[in-house]
Amino acid sequence: MSLEVNKYDFIIIGAGSSGATIANRLSENLNISVLLIEAGKKEHLFAQMPMSFGLFINKPGVNWRYSSEGEAGTFNRNIPIPRGKMTGGSSSINGMVYVRGQSLDYDTWAQHGNKGWGWQEVSKIFKKIENYKNSETGHRGNNGLLGISEVKDENLLYDALIRSAQSLGYPLNKDYNGPNQEGIARIQATISNGRRMSTDYCYLRPALKRPNLTLITKATTEKLIIDNKVCKGIIYKKSNKLHKVYCNNEVILSAGAIASPQILELSGIGNEDILNKYEIQVKHNLPAVGEHFQDHFMARLQWKLKLKKASYNYLGRGINKYNEIAKYILRKKGLFSMPAASIIAFLKTQNYLESPDIQIQYIPFSVGSLKKRIFHDFPGMAAACYQLRPNSMGSIHICSPDPYKHPSIKFNFLSHDLDKRVLINAVKIMRNIVEAKPMDLIRDFEHSPGASVSTDDEIEQYIRETAETGFHPSGTCRMGPGSNSVVNDELKIHGLNGIRVADASIFPTIPSGNTNAACIMVGEKVSELIKESINSGG
Ligand SMILES: Cc1cc2nc3c(=O)[nH]c(=O)nc-3n(C[C@H](O)[C@H](O)[C@H](O)COP(=O)(O)OP(=O)(O)OC[C@H]3O[C@@H](n4cnc5c(N)ncnc54)[C@H](O)[C@@H]3O)c2cc1C
Repeated sequence: MSLEVNKYDFIIIGAGSSGATIANRLSENLNISVLLIEAGKKEHLFAQMPMSFGLFINKPGVNWRYSSEGEAGTFNRNIPIPRGKMTGGSSSINGMVYVRGQSLDYDTWAQHGNKGWGWQEVSKIFKKIENYKNSETGHRGNNGLLGISEVKDENLLYDALIRSAQSLGYPLNKDYNGPNQEGIARIQATISNGRRMSTDYCYLRPALKRPNLTLITKATTEKLIIDNKVCKGIIYKKSNKLHKVYCNNEVILSAGAIASPQILELSGIGNEDILNKYEIQVKHNLPAVGEHFQDHFMARLQWKLKLKKASYNYLGRGINKYNEIAKYILRKKGLFSMPAASIIAFLKTQNYLESPDIQIQYIPFSVGSLKKRIFHDFPGMAAACYQLRPNSMGSIHICSPDPYKHPSIKFNFLSHDLDKRVLINAVKIMRNIVEAKPMDLIRDFEHSPGASVSTDDEIEQYIRETAETGFHPSGTCRMGPGSNSVVNDELKIHGLNGIRVADASIFPTIPSGNTNAACIMVGEKVSELIKESINSGG
């Protein structure tokens, strides 16, 4: 194995939601050279088709297919954790539900000592990102790189669900990304003209036309080159050959909330006890690396429906499936142009709360097994819910010095009593909406788990036995001023120079909703910080 050496001004590791965004923004300055290193291939051809999330959910080659350690609180299950492995990262395999989160989330980040990350500042960035034409208020952006549109299809299931929620006192909120998140609405999706709006498509491809941006795919970063508390570059492997790349300015680590702490630990940055255990030379003792791991714990229920047309199961089976594929190819319409869910609700489990504490997604189809995603042969619908701001935290740490061995991932879901109570209430509310009168003509009966699961204890057991990740790992290189954090509010690693982390791992607390938008915001924000530092000669 030989070592080839090269040099760039900036090196970005990972071409995902944050990394592709940064590659675009930094390369706007044609005077700087930018290298983007991605372990996966170029975005898969089928990624443009929104329904590809079902195809990619467990597909080797485009998905890292991590899984958690067995833990007593979740019946020792190894919970699958999909993560995108191609340009666009997880934005190329995700469910495309577009959620900014609540102002409270970002004001909490600022309150924790992170200057410049409060709602007033980050809402301007969200506005810059968005190309959303339906806004009736001045709160949304309509000129950004990321296309966003509402679920378009007409289905009486949607109207019935919204009326059901209203009959129980929950408000209709046309724009849950506006000033107030609370209420039920049609989903806003990162889909435009029937195409998935991944960061590969929206940010990376246009930037690759610039001469100063170099993308290297199928190249796994094995470690950072750290010399005397300064990051000088990286070592990556491509086609079984090791390469060394140095940077004049900085390395930006954007490998996602699982791989970013892994790469830091493999480079000797992390808790010295863990590094010593795997005989990795300690370059910088930073015990917060890999800690404070958060995710949304998502519980699912499914119903059999009375009306065939209210469910899209029949469209996804037999000959209809091929008709729908043809419809997608010819007109970018139909089942394969849809996001992972159609109706979304942000609700309060207690009236006295300041803002919603749960999210529910209603889905106009149902599947036999989550792994195989084969539509039921009867009309069905599904719903999924999670607590928006869970307190439970786990960890992600290496369990080998081998960069190709997946790290040990511990969720620690429902270890906090409040999380348990909120999620049980979320399941009850999700059910109550489907069981309400306006759904009588559509709903047949709850298929899974069904009537046998009704008491709090039974619901808790059902959740612990079956709930899965909401696909939002975050917080493992948390931003903050203190020793329980990894990066400061400029996303520079405490105690090191020449390296920033920018992806879902830096979230001080998990945002209230799906996390793609927040990752793109982080990419935009760090790019602004870097540009400021270049302009000030830093
Ligand atoms: C199945 C699924 C469904 C989801 N649904 C939604 C949704 O509907 N709405 C929403 O808002 N969010 C959703 N999310 C979450 C959202 O997509 C992620 O939070 C977001 O994409 C994470 O961005 P990131 O930049 O942190 O990491 P990623 O986008 O995962 O990017 C990390 C990149 O780094 C690369 N990489 C990793 N290790 C290395 C290495 N050693 N060397 C080089 N490159 C490396 C990876 O291949 C990847 O391309 C979903 C996620 C998944 C997986």
